Amino acid sequence: MKSIALRNYAEGKWVPGSGATAELRSAVTGDVVALTSSQGLDFGAMLRFAREHGGAALRALTFHQRARMLKALVDALTAKKDTLYELSYNTGATKADSWIDIDGGIGTFAVYQGKGRRELPDEHLLIDGDVEALSRGGTFQGLHVYTPLQGVAVHINAFNFPVWGMLEKLAPTLLAGVPAIVKPATATAYLAEAAVRIMIDADVLPRGSLQLIVGPTGDLFEHLTAQDIVSFTGSAATAAKLKSHPVIVREGVRFVAEQDSLNASILGPEATPEAPEFALFVKEVVREMTVKAGQKCTAIRRALAPAPLLDAVQAALVAQLKNVNLGDPREEATRMGALVSLSQREDVRAKIGALERDGSIVCGDPNASPVNEKGAFLQAILLRCERPWDARAVHDVEAFGPVATLMPYNDAADAIALANRGRGSLVMSVFTHDVGFARALVLGSAAFHGRVAFIDRDSAKESTGHGSPMPHLVHGGPGRAGGGEEMGGIRGVKHYMQRTALQGHPRVLSAVVKRYIAGMPTQDAEQHPFRRKFHDLPIGYQLKTKAREITLEDIEHFARFTGDTFYAHMDEAAAKANPLFGGRVAHGYLILAFAAGLFVDPDPGPVLANYGLDNLRFVKPVKPGDAIQVALTVKDKTLRKPDQGEVRWDVVVTNRDGETVAAYDLLTMNAA
Ligand code: NAP
Repeated sequence: MKSIALRNYAEGKWVPGSGATAELRSAVTGDVVALTSSQGLDFGAMLRFAREHGGAALRALTFHQRARMLKALVDALTAKKDTLYELSYNTGATKADSWIDIDGGIGTFAVYQGKGRRELPDEHLLIDGDVEALSRGGTFQGLHVYTPLQGVAVHINAFNFPVWGMLEKLAPTLLAGVPAIVKPATATAYLAEAAVRIMIDADVLPRGSLQLIVGPTGDLFEHLTAQDIVSFTGSAATAAKLKSHPVIVREGVRFVAEQDSLNASILGPEATPEAPEFALFVKEVVREMTVKAGQKCTAIRRALAPAPLLDAVQAALVAQLKNVNLGDPREEATRMGALVSLSQREDVRAKIGALERDGSIVCGDPNASPVNEKGAFLQAILLRCERPWDARAVHDVEAFGPVATLMPYNDAADAIALANRGRGSLVMSVFTHDVGFARALVLGSAAFHGRVAFIDRDSAKESTGHGSPMPHLVHGGPGRAGGGEEMGGIRGVKHYMQRTALQGHPRVLSAVVKRYIAGMPTQDAEQHPFRRKFHDLPIGYQLKTKAREITLEDIEHFARFTGDTFYAHMDEAAAKANPLFGGRVAHGYLILAFAAGLFVDPDPGPVLANYGLDNLRFVKPVKPGDAIQVALTVKDKTLRKPDQGEVRWDVVVTNRDGETVAAYDLLTMNAA
């Protein structure tokens, strides 16, 4: 097999490293599959290039433009994913393992491009939360905004998911408008390099937004500044070393760490072998031990079962583990492939040795060299620890391979105490149909985990399982797991941005954030706003309607017509006794309907549909004889398609005394 000479992608060019190259070997055959070096790169210049070119270009784009860029990358990666699958076999991964890495990574980009277009504005900054009133007269107010960091995101990735691990960090980074320099783990850098080539060849990323280092990072850290961010995935030992780098400490560089984790899975106390949750638990522990040959940061390392069920669980696990087909990942019948390298296998063997201090092996032989002599194959190893309360290694030592320890617990408090002995993990799963047990575990243990997955007979079929981080939800965990947080939908984008509090007059604030803020000067509508197309509606364009009196007859008519004959509208004596109303009042929905009747312009025109209300509040009751009037103001606009845009209207309904009786945001789709 011919080996590939990997290249770095630095300052807009593919460049080989100089000097000695490292040999990267196939996990399956031991053959050299790639040669790599990052020597001779000017790391300071790479950072400057990213800041000056990539950062500036990305910040000039809106969130929606960046999201469309991600969409184009999804298409490019999908079209060429077969080449990635082919390379991935060399990492020891089966086709199913590679699916998690490659399709999982592309899927993460896909989720982010969709969320970016739906949940973020077509804008350069992101408003966080509501406007805060800071003064009585309303001339001084406050709000928060996010803007992209003006530095570089340095992504340092682990070997086990060379594609997913890279894309799950890149998606929120690029969406935020921040350029990235990616440093994949050397052992599987050939796969990451191939994915980067596809993205660069797609020619959709501005120059400088993505660079690649296939080897050590040299003096890169020496050139970091406070606007940069390091996002690290790997072992706790490397994380500790990197985050205490003097430049990180001195400059206050953001450092996000995703590191190893002693994840627990717990079988509920009620889940006897007859309960569906028993079989689901056994299947999941086996799956987590064997997918990616257990080289998953989220894999189940500690399997906790009720003490009386321990023997039954062990027997079921051993029976299934014995049937796991270990072999060449290219073979279709293979269920578990190889570890990434022989040195990784040695590391796992040493860790199993440490775990044996607390328990004994009940399945598998760590010293066997199955399949072939040159590949990094290892049998799945199940240990049993009788006294987990007195044990240390099982709660502390992560054997990053097909290794798990089975242990007993006595009751919910005990299960919580044992789960928490991991000192912070990425995920805990609970196999129970008992909702009381589920809640007890969350109250007692959620603070120790980034994610808690409940799996039972009702959810199992559609469940994504214990080990899969989802782009919509946060991935990361406290303490031992690194204390970092990634993904979590738009939350992940904000990690690459700075939140800033803005204070000032609403005229200034609304002009800065391009949103109507009450108190800013408005523009009286000389033409009805419903006659104006999307692009002709300025923020602050306001229609004030005439007043309409609400009579008792209106209320009774509305009640009969809708069937809403609630006593507060229909029964004077009962309404009088109500502490809030003191007499009959109009329906809230009547106020909404009459408000629409006041502000709508009926003829066909640019308003295509009313598709919802947000933040609706009925502030004050309206009594028969009172009159309502509406102020309808253009609050915010988002172009959704080239010819259609969403208009958010601020609607305030007032009474005869000018007091607000109802307020809400109305959403319409308008022709552009
Ligand atoms: P590792 O040895 O800590 O390496 C992680 C990354 O750090 C690699 O890219 C490595 O590059 C780089 N690195 C090491 N020393 C460095 C230095 N001085 N300066 C700059 N970069 C440096 O971890 P690994 O063996 O690749 O990965 C396995 C570990 O990652 C496991 O413990 C696993 O639990 C954890 N993990 C965690 C998550 C998560 O999301 N929490 C996900 C996957 C894996 P080289 O390869 O070139 O040394």
